[in-house]
Amino acid sequence: MSETGRIPVIVIGGFLGAGKTSWLNRWLLSLPFARVAVLVNDFGEINIDASLIAATEGETIALTNGCICCQMGGDLSQALIRLLSHPQPFDAVVIEASGVSDPGRIARLARAAPELELKGVLVLVDATSTASRLQDPQLGDTLQAQIRSADWLLLSKTDISHGQQVSELRELLHALAPETPCIETGWLPTGLAGMPDAGRALDRACLPAGHGRRFSVWTGCPQVALSGQEWIRRLEALPGQVLRLKGFVRTHEHGWASVQRAGQQVSLAAWAGSAPAQLSLVAVSLRGSTPRETLDALLHA
Ligand SMILES: [Zn+2]
Repeated sequence: MSETGRIPVIVIGGFLGAGKTSWLNRWLLSLPFARVAVLVNDFGEINIDASLIAATEGETIALTNGCICCQMGGDLSQALIRLLSHPQPFDAVVIEASGVSDPGRIARLARAAPELELKGVLVLVDATSTASRLQDPQLGDTLQAQIRSADWLLLSKTDISHGQQVSELRELLHALAPETPCIETGWLPTGLAGMPDAGRALDRACLPAGHGRRFSVWTGCPQVALSGQEWIRRLEALPGQVLRLKGFVRTHEHGWASVQRAGQQVSLAAWAGSAPAQLSLVAVSLRGSTPRETLDALLHA
């Protein structure tokens, strides 16, 4: 709790696959003694990210009913009320927005609760794909709104980008949000007190309610076990309409593995936890452009 007696709230946003969960996990692991409540909004009906959040002293709540910023008074408000009535107070609340959400709308909702103190909106920006997606007529406004609502921009994937790509992206970001500090994701705030001060960016761009309907989710249960290599090959071969894919699969060498596809980059990691509650893959595309047959074919040998 802060000296005002209110619980600090941090909102983490950024487009699908920008690296929100990985960054959040690194930060949570650097705060081993803090009781942090984490609210995770996955756009799909199955919350893969919640199972990927590192175990902490606090609590992780999955918000799976579509885009939380589009439902004022919905899941997010209910979850906040539940957290605030918890007998043992939390040191902080972190809300991880879905990749299509407007973090500014979520921050406004959090700011409305008198028991909470909005500390900041951090938005992750994928250095490999943001410049081209900003030009995309169907995605550009979502990315712009996310960038404009940030108090801090965190550039991710700079290690796999060219220096020129990164400096051009920095110029674009500066044009969209000239006063917003832009740092690389190697940075972590020191403890909870190191969080940035918020509120500077809140009244900038805002996506209309219902914008989440522009995206659609495919979900499947893979029936087959394959080698890790073969899973990677199949996921890399998916068409570009698949903006994001994540979930769990079975492999010959590791048993359960978590898989991620962000843009064209695919990763697979052995899953050390208990068997995932749902053996599922979730993919997000623009509505009407989901390659369903290709995705369905992933599920069978
Ligand atoms: Zn929304």
